Amino acid sequence: MTLRDHTDARGTTTMDADVVVVGSGPGGAALSRVLAEAGQRVVVLEEGPARPNFRPNQAHVSRYHMQEGGTMLARGSKILPVAAGRGVGGGSLVNSAICFRTPDAILDQWTDVLGGDTRYGPQRLGPIFEEIEALIGVGPTRDSIAGENNRLIARGVAKLGLVGGLVDRNAPSCVGCGLCNFGCPVGGKGSVDRNLLPMAMASGAIVQGDVKVHRILVENDRAVGVVGTVQDTDTREPVGELTVRAERVVVCAGGIGTPRLLHHSGLAERLGPATGAGLHIHPGNAVVARCDHIVKMWSGATQGAWFEDPALPGVLPHTMSLPPGALLLLLGQAGLAAKQMMHQLKHYAGCLVMVSDKGEGTVSASANGRAKIHYAFDPGDLERIKKGMVLTAEVLLAGGAKELTAPVHQIGRHTTATSLGKALEDRTIHDFIMYASHPMASCRMGTDPQTSVIGPDAQAHHLPGLYLADSSIFPTSLGVNPQLTTMALATAIARDMAQA
Ligand SMILES: Cc1cc2nc3c(=O)[nH]c(=O)nc-3n(C[C@H](O)[C@H](O)[C@H](O)COP(=O)(O)OP(=O)(O)OC[C@H]3O[C@@H](n4cnc5c(N)ncnc54)[C@H](O)[C@@H]3O)c2cc1C
Repeated sequence: MTLRDHTDARGTTTMDADVVVVGSGPGGAALSRVLAEAGQRVVVLEEGPARPNFRPNQAHVSRYHMQEGGTMLARGSKILPVAAGRGVGGGSLVNSAICFRTPDAILDQWTDVLGGDTRYGPQRLGPIFEEIEALIGVGPTRDSIAGENNRLIARGVAKLGLVGGLVDRNAPSCVGCGLCNFGCPVGGKGSVDRNLLPMAMASGAIVQGDVKVHRILVENDRAVGVVGTVQDTDTREPVGELTVRAERVVVCAGGIGTPRLLHHSGLAERLGPATGAGLHIHPGNAVVARCDHIVKMWSGATQGAWFEDPALPGVLPHTMSLPPGALLLLLGQAGLAAKQMMHQLKHYAGCLVMVSDKGEGTVSASANGRAKIHYAFDPGDLERIKKGMVLTAEVLLAGGAKELTAPVHQIGRHTTATSLGKALEDRTIHDFIMYASHPMASCRMGTDPQTSVIGPDAQAHHLPGLYLADSSIFPTSLGVNPQLTTMALATAIARDMAQA
């Protein structure tokens, strides 16, 4: 198996391949597995570390395993943090392992966007989902490791007769330590560095960490390779420059990283106005609930329960867990009040309320290669988040919680969902602390070069040889957590590429 880090790529070097893949997250990993197994010479370049460097510490995970050090912000309606993972394995290293298949209704919508092309329709993707789920170890969250935070939500869901409960996750050996977002300390998560990427390497793929691609080479109107800076894993000092020349270049740098690279490479004008346009992020808020009994939201499967209500389409609440320090901050206490609150922290449960957004944003790059993100909230999304929060409050109370609050300015504390809903009524977007970790749809697939960057074969409309295969290509907002969809799409794209 060939997994390389910066020590293997010092100085100025050049490699040749059939396919060079930029980014090793769910998209890049899934695509590389299929192409390598089809006999193609695949080189994967990844900006982050070759090997996991996990500590249960926010500064540490931000430094090694979050893109742009965990400081990416969308400006626009408000300042909104946007998170994306980094390292060999991409977002799957730090995500919560929730796995949902793409809803059929969304796949049907995508078929329409592609002018009736069914290659990403439910019939073709169904077996691919099964295949990927088996490879990455998807299964229901076991009650034994779920923890009370998830169990409370599952109890409330059952009591109210909603669809939901303990969620499917790719964490076959999960011990319920609640540390997914810092990187799994026991190897219990089926992140793609533990399955799809080793499979690609077993078929000859080279996976090179510590290389930040900054240029896509274009010759004779065709993408022919990439150039990246080799950087020391710890200091980020440049220690080399690596050029990979290849028949096909596939950018899988994620919902922010892909448009950032295309803009930074000076290709945005050529690729058309959809490059970095139409960004969706699944923004969300949360409800936090105090219980009489002990919950310890930081222990148990990180995000192990979910629910939905057909009356609230596109609203997907799922568990929120936070370490005690972050929970204290969220509860907004300081000084003596914070001290008194400390021993109460173990009594809190939490649930995020995420929406499939109608709001949209843009991604470009600043001169130093960092992402410039703008996002405009749709007022209807805020209304759906508020309604979702009220429903979530009902679920938490039904599950055994006693008192509700939320990360919303001066929202107060409430013992009924109705009272929380009343308090939310006149709150504006500026009152909410929103969060997003599902950037997508920023370089869409479609048939119209004015509204999409790539065609149904994933090749750029205006640059032969350049392909995209990650969450940036979704033709619309998704509505469910994106990793499985990203892997399935990339698998289907790779199968077609292998035959072309
Ligand atoms: C904290 C958190 C929790 C999440 N929880 C879930 C969950 O439970 N379930 C779920 O389905 N989804 C979850 N997600 C989202 C999910 O992880 C992403 O949707 C998914 O990883 C997207 O895959 P991708 O391949 O498109 O991009 P990414 O996973 O972002 O991978 C892109 C890779 O490209 C690399 N890269 C970027 N630019 C360059 C460059 N110029 N040169 C070289 N390499 C580059 C990055 O370092 C990164 O490793 C979560 C995300 C986060 C951050």
